[in-house]
Amino acid sequence: MKYKVIIIGGGLSGLALSISLQRKGYAVAVIEKGEYPRHKVCGEYISMESYRYLQEICPTLETHHIPKIDTFRLTASSSTVLETPLTLGGFGVSRHLLEYELMQAAVKSGVVFYLKNKALSVDFQAETSTYFVKTNTETLEASIICGAFGRKSNMDYLYPKKYTIPTNYLGVKYHIQTQHADNLIAIHSFEGGYCGISNIEDGKTCLCYIVNAEKLKACNNDIKAMETRFLYQNAALKQIFENSTFLFQQPLTISNVHFEIKEPINQGVFCVGDAAGCIAPITGNGMSMALRSAFYLANLLDDFFQQKIDRNTLVSAYSAAWKEHFSLRIRLSRFFQKLSESPSLTKMTIHLLHFFPVLQKKLIRLTHGLPF
Ligand SMILES: Cc1cc2nc3c(=O)[nH]c(=O)nc-3n(C[C@H](O)[C@H](O)[C@H](O)COP(=O)(O)OP(=O)(O)OC[C@H]3O[C@@H](n4cnc5c(N)ncnc54)[C@H](O)[C@@H]3O)c2cc1C
Repeated sequence: MKYKVIIIGGGLSGLALSISLQRKGYAVAVIEKGEYPRHKVCGEYISMESYRYLQEICPTLETHHIPKIDTFRLTASSSTVLETPLTLGGFGVSRHLLEYELMQAAVKSGVVFYLKNKALSVDFQAETSTYFVKTNTETLEASIICGAFGRKSNMDYLYPKKYTIPTNYLGVKYHIQTQHADNLIAIHSFEGGYCGISNIEDGKTCLCYIVNAEKLKACNNDIKAMETRFLYQNAALKQIFENSTFLFQQPLTISNVHFEIKEPINQGVFCVGDAAGCIAPITGNGMSMALRSAFYLANLLDDFFQQKIDRNTLVSAYSAAWKEHFSLRIRLSRFFQKLSESPSLTKMTIHLLHFFPVLQKKLIRLTHGLPF
């Protein structure tokens, strides 16, 4: 069978894109190397800009108690604290629940899943205008291929240039039970990184931090030792670590985290989410970017399949939309990422923002998009 669209990767962007396209009447297949449900390293805070779209593609999410977040707290120590309202705000939901619900919605819409299947290569046959995706078990055919394979994948070979990693980060996540207000997202800075804390469904709290990998090396790759040595320097974090119930046996970790603007279209493959470019989590917006890029691409592909636009227009319109909406956010996030690694710079920023509340609002606006 020849699909209209094959999506490589069934994370957030791939699942959203599959639902949007299938509901527009196109035969869609998702190739995903893993299975559902599963935990992923993520702060699990989603900015409100994508709330309407998520409700549309996944109405069952509403049946869960999803905390709404409207206040941001930044600490560099227990005494240097900035607290400010978030104009648009966000909500907290675990990746475990979110991807599972999206996958159910996709199956209900008619999307075909190839789970535990790893895409290995993409080839194009010009005579029949057909793309072939070779996986570890079979070869599938489609008119269009979308790359939703995330930040780091064997499919990175599609990129025209090799992306260098200036700084290597480590991501660590726990679900905990603790005293934390539903409407609050807190970012606690420490030497080498920062830790985000916000509530998710079922009265749980997500604690996720990102740290320069050098800090782990300095502690002989012992995560607990690194937490005690570096994270506990911020008394607010020490208090949380020492007074919470940790719900995972072991922390969930990812390494080699880096933040790059890549290209939205590579060798004819239309990339969405992190596959097109990665934002530093400090601004809490990677998931909204993944959803927004899926939303734009689904609409443009619809125009293309209905012959309202030709392929050249599809390519230029998607590239332009991607750059317009995401390039600045990625650049800004990299700046904040660097700044947040230094408690003294974070302290200075907190003092500055106390004096200039207008600046607080401007920064929040620049890092968040408008609802779509
Ligand atoms: C530490 C950390 C904390 C974060 N916190 C937040 C936050 O609080 N809020 C926020 O909005 N964003 C956050 N982000 C960013 C967010 O997690 C990503 O932007 C988001 O997951 C991107 O979704 P995606 O669908 O593009 O990629 P992914 O969710 O990574 O999905 C990619 C999928 O592709 C599959 N895949 C890869 N290669 C293949 C292959 N060859 N064949 C088949 N399948 C394949 C993978 O198994 C995976 O399921 C955080 C990121 C990090 C690193």
